[in-house]
Amino acid sequence: MTHLLHRSIHATLPVAVSGAGIEITDQTGKRYIDASGGAAVSCLGHGHPDVLAALHEQLDRMAYAHTGFFTTEVAERLADMLVEAAPEGLDHVYLVSGGSEAVEAALKMARQYFVETGQPQRRHVIARRQSYHGNTLGALAAGGNEWRRTQFSPLLIETHHIAPCYAYREQKDGESLEDYGLRAAQELEDKILELGAEEVMAFVAEPVVGATAGAIPPAPGYFRRIREICDKYGVLLILDEVMCGMGRTGSLYACEQDDIVPDLLSIAKGLGGGYQPIGATLLSRRIFEAFANGTGFFQHGHTYMGHPMAAAAGVAVQTVIRRDHLLDNVRAMGNFLSAQLHEQLGQNPHVGDIRGRGLFMGVELVRDRETKEPFDPALKLHARIKREAMERGLMVYPMGGTINGRSGDHILLAPPFIVTEKDVETIVNRLGQAI
Ligand code: PMP
Repeated sequence: MTHLLHRSIHATLPVAVSGAGIEITDQTGKRYIDASGGAAVSCLGHGHPDVLAALHEQLDRMAYAHTGFFTTEVAERLADMLVEAAPEGLDHVYLVSGGSEAVEAALKMARQYFVETGQPQRRHVIARRQSYHGNTLGALAAGGNEWRRTQFSPLLIETHHIAPCYAYREQKDGESLEDYGLRAAQELEDKILELGAEEVMAFVAEPVVGATAGAIPPAPGYFRRIREICDKYGVLLILDEVMCGMGRTGSLYACEQDDIVPDLLSIAKGLGGGYQPIGATLLSRRIFEAFANGTGFFQHGHTYMGHPMAAAAGVAVQTVIRRDHLLDNVRAMGNFLSAQLHEQLGQNPHVGDIRGRGLFMGVELVRDRETKEPFDPALKLHARIKREAMERGLMVYPMGGTINGRSGDHILLAPPFIVTEKDVETIVNRLGQAI
């Protein structure tokens, strides 16, 4: 293997040969249940016949047409499907090729919006610690994971980080979840005032934190307060639903459950279900009109944006989710998964927290349940659990290390939306053995 430069040179990985339903098979014939959807990507599982048929049809018709010359029916159809289902007010879509691109586009749209509307001094980005927004320079700057940023810091735009809403770690004794949510949101107002409200451009957050800390849902009311604070100071709210969006938490857009509408919203991963790389940024009418009445276009672009093959995958995935009422299954199986995790792992002395929404669940491991003391990061417990799970034919997504001074080991579960109760029981059973 010579092409996986991002892997440790010591890592030997199995070779994925084929995929069917919720399983991937390697070169030895061993089968793995894909309980993480890769990285919350494969929402319909592998080899879905409707998606394959749609891709074959599109390939026969035309693989590529540059968006500088043409739009395509399939890209327009996908944009319509996304907007029709989106929270009121998000009525334009910018199609890109992945999650980082979708976050970059949102950041640049925010900046151009303020230039177009005569507020060029607005430049500060506020984001949260224990967050991940991608690996390109803008998205990396927004991410809260210091070790990812450190060596690249001279290249990054200045971003200011506040604490995430992380009840397991931050809620005080005797404090209600609602009060904690308001206290956590207050950090944003404090930061805006510290930086000078008229110079703050945007606040970026994942509604349910994914890849850094294992499916942390916000406290009730947290995001409503965040929305109020953004409105009060004219700051744009960018939600990154690259991982938690597209049905993963039981609603097509995760923010529906928090009862708010962002100004910009980034999606990817489950949008193409792994069948094609694709991402998108949804934007509000207000931002679109500022561009339309100003420069006339968004000063950005990529060669493969609106790619017909990617759009065909997106349309097929969206069609299957609606036709087969898969969000009902996400909610039902999400509840079942949560119940199974509590039943089978809840008594484990090293399982500190079980949390999440829908089929997006996290398990946080601790040395001591009472004190919530984490394991020594040098043990790399999360990576060992991943290995043990792979031995047992189970893919789970591990996260750990020290992020902004906070250590922790987390396991993320994000199985395909087609899982059954029997699959869920097997997943939790194998995870229990691995732990
Ligand atoms: N934002 C979030 C919340 C993510 O989880 C990820 C990927 N893990 C990204 C952005 C970046 O997406 P991509 O890897 O497709 O660039």
